[in-house]
Amino acid sequence: MTTSLTQQSVRRLLWVHWKKSHLLTTKRFRYKPKWAMHEKRLTNCHQALGHFDAFYKPVYGHDWPSIRVSLLSLPKHCAVVNIYGHFDKTQEKLFDLGTSNFLLNAETEIQFTSDAFRETPENDEQVRKDLRTAIFHDTDGLSAGRTSLLEEQALQDEQDANDDLNLFVPTEKVYSEKDLLLREEISLNSFESRDIGLRVLPAETLSFPQDLKTFVFPSGVVSRFPSPKSHHGTLGYYLMDAASVLPVLALDVQSNDRVLDLCAAPGGKSYLILQMLRLYEGGRLHCNDSAQGRLSRLRSVLNLYFPKDIVEQIKVTKMDGTSEFPEAYNKVLVDVPCNADRHVVTEEDNNLFKVSRTRERLDLVRLQKDLLISAIKSCVPGGTIVYSTCTLSPAQNDGVIQAVAEELWETSEVEVAVQDLTNLSHALSHTFKFHRKSKHGLTVLPTLLNNFGPSFVSKLRRLK
Ligand code: SAM
Repeated sequence: MTTSLTQQSVRRLLWVHWKKSHLLTTKRFRYKPKWAMHEKRLTNCHQALGHFDAFYKPVYGHDWPSIRVSLLSLPKHCAVVNIYGHFDKTQEKLFDLGTSNFLLNAETEIQFTSDAFRETPENDEQVRKDLRTAIFHDTDGLSAGRTSLLEEQALQDEQDANDDLNLFVPTEKVYSEKDLLLREEISLNSFESRDIGLRVLPAETLSFPQDLKTFVFPSGVVSRFPSPKSHHGTLGYYLMDAASVLPVLALDVQSNDRVLDLCAAPGGKSYLILQMLRLYEGGRLHCNDSAQGRLSRLRSVLNLYFPKDIVEQIKVTKMDGTSEFPEAYNKVLVDVPCNADRHVVTEEDNNLFKVSRTRERLDLVRLQKDLLISAIKSCVPGGTIVYSTCTLSPAQNDGVIQAVAEELWETSEVEVAVQDLTNLSHALSHTFKFHRKSKHGLTVLPTLLNNFGPSFVSKLRRLK
């Protein structure tokens, strides 16, 4: 009581003081030099923005101002319809809101372009060539003339060989502990792409899961979805960033897969996986996370969206994801903790750029590598591992894939290859803006028209 009274009176005194100085002092004399000593420290969000200006601007160049303003603006959501809810009715309602299923739109377009290709006379080479480059799947040998995105990127990289913009030049003399941390920060974030000879598997035939219904408002429309309604105790749709759908699409979940979601809480991607997995047909889902509080949120998501008999079949554990997992899985999703770019520039609370969390932030890349190595080791040879983040940091995206491939090559018999995801990026280019220079995966860049992401997704195949 005493404390709050004191605070109140101090605040009142300050207010009276400010009022007096503003009302009685002419504008010319209002500035008081001693106040400069009480100048506000940079907020955590400003620290984060400053960091991104230093490290992202050189990488994303002309796109950076647009990405920056998008990160600071309201994100756009996607409603993913729950197959265990009032499925048809919910879809009708979403159509009535003026939204459309972006996966269905992408599929229709692929189909349309493929049909146009087949119907074009063989001697009309130019038209066929244009259509061929627009076709995203590998049937009938159509992909033969398609330049893969990875090849395009390689060409672009070559052109940029002399462009040293990616280098952040540190100061020459560094003495204090703070400066040493800064040096560590610079070295951890200055990702330089190397040719590590990682095998690239050709893009696969693309097909989207029939049961996955993902509704978004049209480009440029920033309307909000109403909260989902419950039907017999089960909610009709889950709202999430549309870019969060990409890792699960890349995982290509089949009804009878054995899936491990290594960092699962609060459960957005587990929800997506459960839309495709059929637990009564041999499908298995293991959700793991190391944070108790977040696991409670995951459990409540499962209870709100799935019938009891389904929830009972899902294995939920609280384990450190870097430890060894006793079972083997054929699909592993590792959606790692990261900078969480959008969160750190808009939310002061629990912000990773707090000075007290500096060590944790600098240790992130090591943790991400360890989690990915653990994910690969939990996957059977021939199986698929998807690595994803919600950051634009090249060090936490391509950098982790590159480092893990090198580490595995040097220290174990395990062998992985990266899967070309060109098909996916082409098919979804109306909904997402992709960075052209990602080396081992896809990076979604937020834009004001479609404010999704950021997100990075890389698909790996365990060969041995
Ligand atoms: N996949 C989740 C979803 O779609 O809702 C989001 C995952 S979030 C990006 C990263 C998660 O990793 C956090 O819930 C965090 O608790 C968890 N995590 C952090 N360190 C971990 C570790 N060593 N082992 C397992 N999980 C960890």
